[in-house]
Amino acid sequence: MSGLAIHQLNKAYGPVNALSNISLSVANGQFVCLLGPSGCGKSTLLRIIAGLEATTSGKVLLDGKDITEVPAHLRDFGMVFQSLALFPHLTVGENIAYPLRIRGASKEVQDREVQRLLDLVHLPGVADRAITQLSGGQRQRIAIARALALKPKLFLLDEPMSALDAKLREAMQVEVKRLQQELGITTFLVTHDQREAMTTADLVVVMSGGVIQQIAPPVEIYRSPANAFVADFIGVANLIEGDAKVGGRVVVPGGQVLIDGVAAGGKVNFSARPEDLTLQSAAGDSTVAGTVAFIRHLGSSLEVNVAVPGLAKDLIVVMSPREHLPFDLGDTVHVHVPGSACVVLR
Ligand code: ADP
Repeated sequence: MSGLAIHQLNKAYGPVNALSNISLSVANGQFVCLLGPSGCGKSTLLRIIAGLEATTSGKVLLDGKDITEVPAHLRDFGMVFQSLALFPHLTVGENIAYPLRIRGASKEVQDREVQRLLDLVHLPGVADRAITQLSGGQRQRIAIARALALKPKLFLLDEPMSALDAKLREAMQVEVKRLQQELGITTFLVTHDQREAMTTADLVVVMSGGVIQQIAPPVEIYRSPANAFVADFIGVANLIEGDAKVGGRVVVPGGQVLIDGVAAGGKVNFSARPEDLTLQSAAGDSTVAGTVAFIRHLGSSLEVNVAVPGLAKDLIVVMSPREHLPFDLGDTVHVHVPGSACVVLR
């Protein structure tokens, strides 16, 4: 297969299993986000792909060729770290040309490539500046340009945007995605920011505790989370447990929810997104009763917390800010939970 494949990879640091049984297959040209909370093994996986870390067991294949034992400097992958690791004593141009210089490229080739790469990251004409004269966002682009100097087969990014302020980070995410599409380069981005993953990825790899929880495109991760961890980690999820009765009736605290295809008997856990729920004044076929516990006017949306006795967390309902809310704090409401919006979780 052409692309990057990982087979049954394990990595232990002494007694700590940083990665357990990781298998993954990525076609060339894909943008992959490794997403999960701090300590879940994202960086370790990226560093193994880069060749900066040895595996305990398992294989890494590139275009079908086993590269598990190939050292990092022979993989020719481009990498950008959180620290950026630019050389402060070199100019912008010297930084970008560095990988070309150590491979013996002529001065002409170096100059030409520096121009090309600066154009690519939309910073023409700064080759002679000192790194210290650049803003955080500009340094970011220089680190990206340097990583792309060798026309790498894989582009590896370890949370490079996490030090930027929110607005600039969002702008850089769009820029990195556009650049990746323009170059068609297979890219792995480590992030703990689900919004960043949703913005950039073709494929999201959700990780927790060194284990892959789900691999899917962003929308599928959001709409069809594989388990409660993924549902809760990506966006806001209402997680509800109930007792399954005949006819898809799930009895939950405060009412019942009708979910097609749920077999009778036993407990059912399901998740429903806040934007799929609505508030009504009377009980219905698929409603849960509670009291309005909090109202947030967020400008672009209106968010209502409904406290339901027996549920550990408030249900969250998101509405358009233009909708009229005929309820006040403390009022009894009935949350309509449409079965079609419920994802039954393993
Ligand atoms: P993430 O990038 O998701 O924050 P890491 O891949 O950095 O997670 O770490 C995964 C686990 O491996 C953590 O428990 C971390 O403490 C451990 N770990 C990472 N690097 C080392 C190391 N060099 N030595 C010992 N333990 C490590």
